Amino acid sequence: MPKIHTRSIENNSMNYQQILEEIAVEVNPLLNKGKVADYIPALAEVDPNNFAMSIATLDGQLYNVGRSNTKFSIQSISKVYSLVAAFSALGTEIWNRIGKEPSGTPFNSLIQLEQECGIPRNPFINAGAMVITDMLLSIYDHPKNDLLDFVNALAGQNDIGIDKTVAQSEKKYGFKNAALVNFLKSHDNIDNEIEEVLDLYFCHCAITMNTEELAKSFLFLANGGVNPHNGQVILNHSQTKRLNALMLTCGTYDEAGEFAFRVGMPGKSGVGGGIVAVIPGTLAASVWSPGLNQKGNSLAGVQALELFTTKTKMSVF
Ligand code: GLU
Repeated sequence: MPKIHTRSIENNSMNYQQILEEIAVEVNPLLNKGKVADYIPALAEVDPNNFAMSIATLDGQLYNVGRSNTKFSIQSISKVYSLVAAFSALGTEIWNRIGKEPSGTPFNSLIQLEQECGIPRNPFINAGAMVITDMLLSIYDHPKNDLLDFVNALAGQNDIGIDKTVAQSEKKYGFKNAALVNFLKSHDNIDNEIEEVLDLYFCHCAITMNTEELAKSFLFLANGGVNPHNGQVILNHSQTKRLNALMLTCGTYDEAGEFAFRVGMPGKSGVGGGIVAVIPGTLAASVWSPGLNQKGNSLAGVQALELFTTKTKMSVF
């Protein structure tokens, strides 16, 4: 039998701290090249020169660079927490009301929803996230607090909260989101009151976290669905596989193909400039830089994660 040549990856001896510091230097020229989201006025005030990156490993180590203590608006990243909460409570039933395909359209587009009779393509576009939010309203007794408790438990903390100014700013200017939820309701894909759905949706998008908290809170998706901070089973193996598959195919807006090509990790981004991604069995990585590219992903953040998988030679592929 011919000899098989394998390429070894020495995870244990990886110097993550040094790699993060190299990345911070290399992405620095990109920091003010992106455009901070301004369609939510409260987000437009964030300094584009911010940068932070964190790694949380399954063997309990944390590595940080930059402003990893500064909280920012996690925006669409929160859609992962709400999806996980609904999937964990309701199981496969959620797929009766939402698809699992990339949309190929902007995250707040109305066109596809009309053509597809009120069934959103996936849970990470706004329409899909609002259907999930509607499910949470039906499941939870105290939706905002219960969802926050869930996020805090995933991060192994108890002080993660909502930025009310951002939530109000979104509410005031959320005309498209209001249109989406009304359209969903006209197709009987919303059970609760429209105002309640929008309120909970804007609140979960306005959760603030820093990169260290984000990385810690996604570690369960690298750990077969078990929360490493308390041993609780959040999702089973199969559900965890599906969640990671959805992040890979739909987690970075209309750029998921490019993100998989360049970075090679399942991940989720938000218009606040955060991105969090996992390598199953190993780690969660998060990055924050508010300047966005044309698709709405953090310009320096995508580059930082690409450098990370290049330098560490780790990815899901
Ligand atoms: N709350 C934002 C919206 O509904 C989320 C956008 C995002 O991060 O993708 O427009």
